[in-house]
Amino acid sequence: MKKIIFATGNQDKMREVREIMSDLDAEILSMGEAGIQIDIVEDGVTFQENARIKAAAVARGLKGEEAVVLADDSGLEVDALNREPGIYSARYLGEGTPYEVKNQTILSRLEGVPKEGRTARFVCAIAAVFPDGESCVSREAMEGYIGWEPAGEHGFGYDPIFYVDAYGCSTAQLPPEVKNQLSHRGKALRAMRQQLVRHGFRQKEGTDGQAEGERLAEA
Ligand code: IMP
Repeated sequence: MKKIIFATGNQDKMREVREIMSDLDAEILSMGEAGIQIDIVEDGVTFQENARIKAAAVARGLKGEEAVVLADDSGLEVDALNREPGIYSARYLGEGTPYEVKNQTILSRLEGVPKEGRTARFVCAIAAVFPDGESCVSREAMEGYIGWEPAGEHGFGYDPIFYVDAYGCSTAQLPPEVKNQLSHRGKALRAMRQQLVRHGFRQKEGTDGQAEGERLAEA
């Protein structure tokens, strides 16, 4: 069975990866489960570059173990703010700044801007490094706009101020399974799953090539 190591310590991301890739005949491990502990300097200037940097750093730490390494990078782009906070989303206004403050700051900076000027997107890039050194990357986005006030208790980070037209509410007001179907990360993971299949990953016997989440979404 092939092995996939996802370069994160975040259990929510691991749950989503396992769900979306559940039909692949592969063992999926987090960096911790694979016994890898390294500090990675993300000094790329795009989401794709940072995802590749993380995946390549973890691949170098494998010490001969045969595994595909996946890594992601994501963030929020606000068009009226020159696509800030972008790749600096986690560090916006300083690493430890509470999201209530980050979100309120974005709302203040958009004061007086009408809806058509408030367009924004969550972006996610996922990179893969294969044992033969080959690599690929998927980049996907969820389009939306910055609302006028924070709303909702689900999600994390910028979810309370990021609104989607299809539902007329913030992504923090959407149940997690609905957000996962629309989200930048869900889309990038599904695109990466397709790339893994093209790179020789097989579907488990008894599955029809779709992960559980996708079957439910289409039902
Ligand atoms: P990372 O990809 O885990 O480094 O996350 C980057 C940052 O982007 C997070 O810390 C959040 O600030 C923001 N972000 C990424 N995806 C989302 C999302 O789905 N909702 C809210 N904030 C997000």
